[in-house]
Parts: sequence; C-alpha cells; structure tokens
Amino acid sequence: MDIIRTEVPPRNGRPQFWQLARRCCQLAASVDVGLFFLFHILGSPVLAWINVVSVPLYLFAYHLLSTRRGRPAIVIIWFEVIIHAFLGTLLIGWDSGFHYFLLMFIPALFAGMRGRNAWIAAIILWSFYVGLYALMWFVEPLQPISSGALLGVFLFNVTVVFFMFSYLSLFYVATVSRSQRALRRLATTDVLTGLFNRGHMSDLAENEIARLARSGEQLSFLLLDIDHFKQFNDRYGHDTGDRILERLSTVLAQTLREQDFIGRWGGEEFLVVLTDTGNEQALLTAERIRCTAETHSWVFGELELSVTVSVGVTQYCVGEDLSAVVARADTALYEAKRLGRNRVEVDPLVAH
Ligand code: GH3
Ligand code: MG
Ligand code: MG
Repeated sequence: MDIIRTEVPPRNGRPQFWQLARRCCQLAASVDVGLFFLFHILGSPVLAWINVVSVPLYLFAYHLLSTRRGRPAIVIIWFEVIIHAFLGTLLIGWDSGFHYFLLMFIPALFAGMRGRNAWIAAIILWSFYVGLYALMWFVEPLQPISSGALLGVFLFNVTVVFFMFSYLSLFYVATVSRSQRALRRLATTDVLTGLFNRGHMSDLAENEIARLARSGEQLSFLLLDIDHFKQFNDRYGHDTGDRILERLSTVLAQTLREQDFIGRWGGEEFLVVLTDTGNEQALLTAERIRCTAETHSWVFGELELSVTVSVGVTQYCVGEDLSAVVARADTALYEAKRLGRNRVEVDPLVAH
C-alpha cells in the first residue's frame, strides 16, 4: 500500500484566485501590446496609444498581486477594462467587439466576491454594458475606421476573448479537480501517518466483507499496537512519539502487499486487513511485521530507540459484522500484551 502524507491546505484565502489574476494581467498586457501594433497597422494611432497606457497599468497590477495587495490590483484591472472597452467602443463603434471583454468579469466577480456584493457588481456591470450599447445607438463612432479594419479588430477581440474564456475555464476545472482530490485525501487519510483514517478504513473493510460474501475468499485482520508507547512520549517528548508513528507506518506499508489495507485505528494502534488471506498466512505476516519492527533501526538524530509491537490476529467468519471481527482481534492483542508484549497472538476461535 502506498502512503500519501496529506498536505494541509494553505490558509491565505484563495491562492489560486490570485495566481489566476496574475496570469490574466500577463495575458492582458500581451494583448494590449498586440492591439498597439494592430491599430498602428490599421491607421488609428489614438487607439494604439490607449493600449500603451494599458500595459504599465497591468504591470503595476501584476506587481501589486505579487506583493499580496489584491484589492488595489483588482480595482486597477476593473478600471482598465471598463475604460478600455468604453473608449474602444466610443471611438470605433460597438461592432469593434471591445464590449466582449466586459463579459469576462462575470466569472471573476463571483470568484472574487462574496454572494451579495458579487450580485451588486454584476448588476452594475450589466447596466454599464447595456448603457454602452444604448449610447452607441445615438452616438456615431468618434474615430471610425474602414469596415475591413473594423472586421479585423472585431476578429482580434473575439479571438482573444474566446481564448481567455477557454483558458479560465480550463484553469477553473483544474482547480476544482485539485481541490476535490485534496478534500478526498483529507477525508480518508490520517494527517500524521498518511495511512487511511479510521472512518475510511471501516468503509474499506466493510466493502471487503461485502465482496467476500460473493467471492468466498478468506479475509484476515491484524490489530497492532506499539508496546509501552507512552514511555517514549514521556521520556523523549511527543514529537519523538510522532516520528515513531510515522516511521512505523512506512515500515508497515513496505512490509505489506499492495492489495492489503492499513489504517490508523487509534492513537498508536493500527488495523491491517489482509485480503484473500487465511489464518496461517496472516499469522506469518503478523510475525514478519513484529520481527521487522523489532529489528528496525529506530534512529532519530542522536537518539537510538528500541521499539516493538504486539499483534492480535483473527480471521473473518461469514455473517459477522466488522465490529465483531475487530473485537476478536482486540482480544487477541490484549492477550499478546498480557503475555509479555513484542509477540503475536491468534484469536483462539480461529486458531485451530
Ligand atoms: P501498551 O504496551 O500496553 O500498549 O502501553 P502503551 O504505553 O503503548 O499504551 P497506553 O494506552 O498507556 O498509551 C498510549 C499512548 O499513546 C498515550 C497517548 O498519549 C499516546 N498517543 C496517542 N496518540 C498519539 C499521537 O498521535 N502522537 C503521540 N506522540 N502520542 C500519541
Ligand atoms: Mg501501546
Ligand atoms: Mg493502545
């Protein structure tokens, strides 16, 4: 079984959102450089120079975002896009397609603001959009360009908006998938050891029990507990105790087969489910684990410790539920402790 140590998610709000905003600044600055040349070629120097003003604005917003000053950066980006769309439309007309850039704010609004504020901003944006459209019914473009050039600007703007929407959507899907994976990992694994947590281990064991009813295979359970673990905590500190738990988890994962399940069942107690395994094989596995722990070099910096484990072994009997089989493994473990620890005991019910 592979161990996945869980990374605790960062607590600084929504880092992905700020990363996306930075990327948008880079893209927008590049687009403005492109527009600068496009308008020069199309013979509209006024519009070309508007883009020159936009580039430092985006670079400044990028700098603010990189130094964790998100709010002023977002204000600058809003300001730039709204003024740019307004001027572009006013100078060469609605058909230039500059207004499409305004639509890109809709997802950004809801990603960056909370509930009511996002709706208010969306309504303001809608009013501005419709207002600009209405205005262009009454006002002739101030700097009209030829219809061929207008088509060129329209195609450029539509292409950029399509590309940026696609990019944003891809980024969004990747972020959601990553978050779902992280959540699933957090919900199913123990943070310290990276093994399955008790809840997930119960689910997996229940699944195996259900599968067994159909397959008729054998299923064995090991309950494993570190001997005198409290003493390690008391003598060397809680951190050393944690390091022992981590190390034992790695040792267990390396000792067991890919198809077996290991979970942290309690503080220093581990449950192992050995799939398709009868009692004899389970006993051998438990003994191998015990021996590996005993002979492992438990070195932590200057410290060299001697750590042993006790193991209770049992086999699943058809018809019983998970708690019953774990209780029998626990009884066997208790017996191993009673008989002196660092040993394996088999549940007498299945021993013969
Ligand atoms: P025994 O051989 O009978 O199992 O003795 P023990 O000392 O191992 O058992 P006991 O139940 O007396 O002590 C278990 C200790 O494990 C007590 C608790 O503080 C410690 N513990 C539980 N969870 C953690 C953890 O996550 N980290 C550390 N460092 N210690 C833990
Ligand atoms: Mg113990
Ligand atoms: Mg214990």
